[in-house]
Amino acid sequence: MDPQTEVETTSTTSLRKADQGRLRINEIFYSLQGESTWAGRPCVLVRLTGCQMRCRWCDTEYAFYEGEWMSLDEVVSEVRRHDCELVEVTGGEPLLQPGCLPLMEKLCDAGYTVLLETGGGLDIGEVDARVHRILDVKCPGSGEAEANRWENLELLGERDEVKFVLADRTDFDFACEVVRRHRLVERVPVHFSPVFGELEPAELAAWIRDEGLAVRLQLQLHKLLWGATTHGV
Ligand code: SF4
Repeated sequence: MDPQTEVETTSTTSLRKADQGRLRINEIFYSLQGESTWAGRPCVLVRLTGCQMRCRWCDTEYAFYEGEWMSLDEVVSEVRRHDCELVEVTGGEPLLQPGCLPLMEKLCDAGYTVLLETGGGLDIGEVDARVHRILDVKCPGSGEAEANRWENLELLGERDEVKFVLADRTDFDFACEVVRRHRLVERVPVHFSPVFGELEPAELAAWIRDEGLAVRLQLQLHKLLWGATTHGV
């Protein structure tokens, strides 16, 4: 397929319309979970192709278009190759593709503990109740704060977590305001993570300490271990 045709067939519009029985998969790999209360646990990561957002500091741009089509059963078979009961479905924006929902159901039915990492711009209401949803809230520094789907915050349950990736003090103040407005720390674990190479973790740590909000400083484990673009495989 020539590059232009490939971009067109993997546009967000066509991915949204893909049938539920197959998924465009960017990669499936075994590593450590990086950014949640599950961080540090061995985990199979299933990365779906495509994202409707363009965060300024995105580190998975390679997942916007690249990937291959696989049936849901092929994805589950690939996951089974690894002896690991924890699976994360991520992207890109995994919820973009309709097949993401039945894939997570299948993985839950197969006995896996399933995490979903989503950018927060699409509805999380249809996700299987057994899935642990890790929801990003986009801050102004990402350039995508307008894309937040605020209704998602009201849908959060006891299995879920929220993550803010912060580039500067403006992002920090924005995140604190959202946390307070939606009473997030009373409801779910809340993670504040600095943009790698832009905000010093020690500076963010001091802001969190001084603010006194019960949020958690979260460092991007995979970047500390393996650098900006790799994941240790
Ligand atoms: S939502 Fe995630 S994958 Fe999409 S642009 Fe933002 S950081 Fe990248």
